[in-house]
Amino acid sequence: MMKMTTMRCLLQPFHRSLSRTLLCLTLDAAGRRHITTFTTTATKDSEETSCLDCSTATCSFFCPTCNNIKKTISKNCSHFDILGLPTKYDLSNEDIDIAYKKLQKRLHPDLHHQSPDTSSLAASYSTKVNMACDVLTDPVLRGQHLMLVNYGVDPLKEGTPSLEDPELLMFVMEARQEIEDVETENAETLHQHHRKMMNEVVKDLTLQFNNGKSSMDDQLKTLIKLQYVSKMVDEIQHRTPVM
Ligand SMILES: [Zn+2]
Repeated sequence: MMKMTTMRCLLQPFHRSLSRTLLCLTLDAAGRRHITTFTTTATKDSEETSCLDCSTATCSFFCPTCNNIKKTISKNCSHFDILGLPTKYDLSNEDIDIAYKKLQKRLHPDLHHQSPDTSSLAASYSTKVNMACDVLTDPVLRGQHLMLVNYGVDPLKEGTPSLEDPELLMFVMEARQEIEDVETENAETLHQHHRKMMNEVVKDLTLQFNNGKSSMDDQLKTLIKLQYVSKMVDEIQHRTPVM
């Protein structure tokens, strides 16, 4: 039998039940091109290995050609890439939730129990999706991650965030005092006040990230403020009466 090299396969749009037809472009030993068809069940390993797109490392968990779960994804995927979202701060929880649910539905264990390999791949991708969702839903972590993607540095991780800005220092000290002094019955009001403040800082940060002219230092300052306000919101929450 003549030796054939498979160049590229395309999934036929028509497939009955679990079998799929792949149209593949193959080269024979003499370098002539042939169109070959393979009919396979949807998740046979043989199909995965015969598909060149399956071995292309991108941030997608599924092969665009044969739809199979991929054996590997690129090592350089950001949490934005993982969820297939644009790399920007201005994302609503709804955007993130839609992307999250769409991926978790495709990675559901029931769809990937054909082999131990596929099921462990689906489980590990599902963990990545969970982590991406956790990071991007949290306004502080999302900002931190975006700075890491945009500037290659994790500003909040390098030692203690600096409190060089006197205005921010004053603000933090006053707010801390206010939290310490709050009476239990007023804690809920103070909590709401800080939540509102947190939303304002998120708005400021969104404007800065959206504005191409804002500097990394300005963004960092606002991010540090947001980190403090977010911590305060948590602290007050612990002081509010338990319902
Ligand atoms: Zn494939």
